[in-house]
Amino acid sequence: MQKLSIRDLDMAAKRVFVRVDFNVPLEGGRVSDDTRIRETLPTLRLAIERRARLVLASHLGRPKGKVDPKYSLAPVAVKLGEMLGKPVAFASDCVGADAEAKSKALRNGEVLLLENVRYHPEEEANDPEFSKQLAALCDQIFVCDAFGSAHRAHASVVGITKYVRQAAAGLLMEKEIAYLGKAISNPERPFVAVLGGAKVSDKIEVVQNLMKLADAMLIGGAMAYTFLKSQGRPVGKSLVENDKLDLARSLLSEAQSRKFRLLLPVDHVLAESPDSTATKVTDIAGTPDGWMGLDVGPKTIDEFSREIAKARTIVWNGPLGMFEKPAFAQGTLAIAKAVAAATTGGATSIIGGGDSVAAVEQAGVAKQISHISTGGGASLEFLAGEKLPGVEALNNA
Ligand code: AMP
Repeated sequence: MQKLSIRDLDMAAKRVFVRVDFNVPLEGGRVSDDTRIRETLPTLRLAIERRARLVLASHLGRPKGKVDPKYSLAPVAVKLGEMLGKPVAFASDCVGADAEAKSKALRNGEVLLLENVRYHPEEEANDPEFSKQLAALCDQIFVCDAFGSAHRAHASVVGITKYVRQAAAGLLMEKEIAYLGKAISNPERPFVAVLGGAKVSDKIEVVQNLMKLADAMLIGGAMAYTFLKSQGRPVGKSLVENDKLDLARSLLSEAQSRKFRLLLPVDHVLAESPDSTATKVTDIAGTPDGWMGLDVGPKTIDEFSREIAKARTIVWNGPLGMFEKPAFAQGTLAIAKAVAAATTGGATSIIGGGDSVAAVEQAGVAKQISHISTGGGASLEFLAGEKLPGVEALNNA
């Protein structure tokens, strides 16, 4: 799936429309975490070096198709200017007279950021007329660097590609596709998938697809309890999706008939409620009534860590416990360290989903991870084997 790359484009003196993911947190009218902006800088710097005239578009939050100053990208233009070390112009709307005039006024290497594309309901509707208006702001060249939005068929991601001559992947997009693509098409083995988080229902397709591709799957977090309960094991008051028990049972029996190594927790850290710090550790078989499992226990950490240490490819999405609370963070932090250690030993590690990313940062091992995906939802859909519309829409190389 080689897509046309920004590196293949002749951009000199041309207006290039770049869809970025500047969906950053704001506090008091300022950008409070600039990670997503920083991730796109290599793409922007390459385009600037090649004397492109950059028209940048993004969404921010969920303004639901209406102008809402709370979701304005104006503070992002300021921050981006600081980071690039040059002024960034700002258009008060992503289409219309102001955007047109400001895009035409751009000189080589200059940058314009458009206001939030989601101020218009046509963005999420992938409206053709609106897509055409966006495309009119550039000279037929579109670059997508918004992997985090690639699972959405929206106008500034997909619709616009119909009205330009070239639609290419940015450097961040390329990196995401390269890492995730290799994991699902040609992984170095053993390939171990680690899944956690609150709900099985969010990850059914991922479990199904990775069962076909991986050599082992380690499941922790609240989602493990739906599997455990479906086997008739005691789970106390732990979070269970009762309407997914049949599905969990059939996934487990599929794993068994295929001799696929699907590992569930063997012990856990319990409390009477998530707010309690009075905890105890038991084997799953010894789960007392009225207690909730909120983290994996030491035996599970050992077992999971041993699997991770043997792996050559590791994909991890979702925390193994309620890691926001220190009393239940040990499992997730231990797994973060195990994944980092395996990576130092030569394995390729790919982490997606806000919580797992936060966990590797908290554990102080983020730098050791091979690839931290910027798209939680998009990376899950990719791992589920689905085609991402924002990637499909780009030209082939
Ligand atoms: P997700 O968005 O599905 O990845 O789920 C992430 C959330 O799952 C985090 O907020 C965790 O606190 C929560 N979580 C993980 N394990 C447990 C557990 N054993 N019980 C309750 N919540 C959990």
